[in-house]
Amino acid sequence: MKIKSAEFVMSNSDVAKCPKSMLPEYAFIGRSNVGKSSLINMLTSRKSLAKTSGRPGKTQLINHFLINKNWHLVDLPGYGYARVSKSAKKTFQKFITKYFDFREQLVSAFVLVDIRHTPQPVDLDFMAWLGEHGIPFSIVFTKADKLRPLAIEKHVEDYKNILLETWEDMPNYFITSSSKTIGKDDVLEYINTLNEN
Ligand code: GDP
Repeated sequence: MKIKSAEFVMSNSDVAKCPKSMLPEYAFIGRSNVGKSSLINMLTSRKSLAKTSGRPGKTQLINHFLINKNWHLVDLPGYGYARVSKSAKKTFQKFITKYFDFREQLVSAFVLVDIRHTPQPVDLDFMAWLGEHGIPFSIVFTKADKLRPLAIEKHVEDYKNILLETWEDMPNYFITSSSKTIGKDDVLEYINTLNEN
């Protein structure tokens, strides 16, 4: 899929205020600093459509972008940021869980994880939650430029081993690097295929 246009639509913290249009929607989420803004900018070929975070955990909003006038890309806040207060974490959890439970337009989520790290409980818990709530998702491994191919394989394997302990199948996954523009076409083609079905 070629990205011909990418426009910011709105930011808000309430799923009830998200765009009313029934365009298919894809949500990107992951831990703060995982490389989400960079990935969104790579996918859309825009330098700063999503703001790369100088201050992680700061932007606690649901951000809608209209792509090619026919689908929404949603930039969700980063989770697992240690330095926000407990009450801020609770509020965050509430509006994110509400988003996933109520947003009918959501076709699939993309959960971003840094390929350099071993599977982290916060990410595994979040994937388990999505699974329990019947929300389709793919895993996007980020920062693949930081590891050699064998190490990438090993880290993906670690994820497979853990996820397959509880699930029948490994979710769809993508290996990406925003610095080296890796995985861009794979993710966009996948979205294109889902949009056509
Ligand atoms: P966000 O907080 O998840 O939106 O993450 P950002 O996109 O702001 O990126 C966090 C940090 O990781 C920044 O210093 C980026 O330059 C860096 N980063 C993001 N993507 C990549 C990547 O693909 N490769 C490398 N080497 N660094 C990256």
